Amino acid sequence: MHELSIAQNVIEIVQQNLPPAPHPPVRAVKMRVGEMAGVVIDSLEFCFSAIISDTPLKGARLEVERVPVVAHCRGCELHFEVEHYAFSCPSCENIEIEVISGRELQVVEVELLDEKVEAI
Ligand SMILES: [Zn+2]
Repeated sequence: MHELSIAQNVIEIVQQNLPPAPHPPVRAVKMRVGEMAGVVIDSLEFCFSAIISDTPLKGARLEVERVPVVAHCRGCELHFEVEHYAFSCPSCENIEIEVISGRELQVVEVELLDEKVEAI
């Protein structure tokens, strides 16, 4: 399953960024996931909680921030949110647009019980 390998990846990344043991328990892992990243959030959360029990992340919560798809129109320079995969400019109907966000799939922050490990 796609989400399972992503969850495993996230756990590896977090473990690589944890301070040396003993460290406080991990309270939360914050992620940014773009609407176009092709990830089913419910499934990712399920996989994450299913596989953390044997890791130092035991008990941690996965907090996912959805990143909308934003595009830039090469015709009129408009920045707009792409809805329903309608990839044309809402203002000038140009189809020469560039997607500038919405493909994110990254861990942005790990929250330990009493401190934060930022900027991963
Ligand atoms: Zn335009």
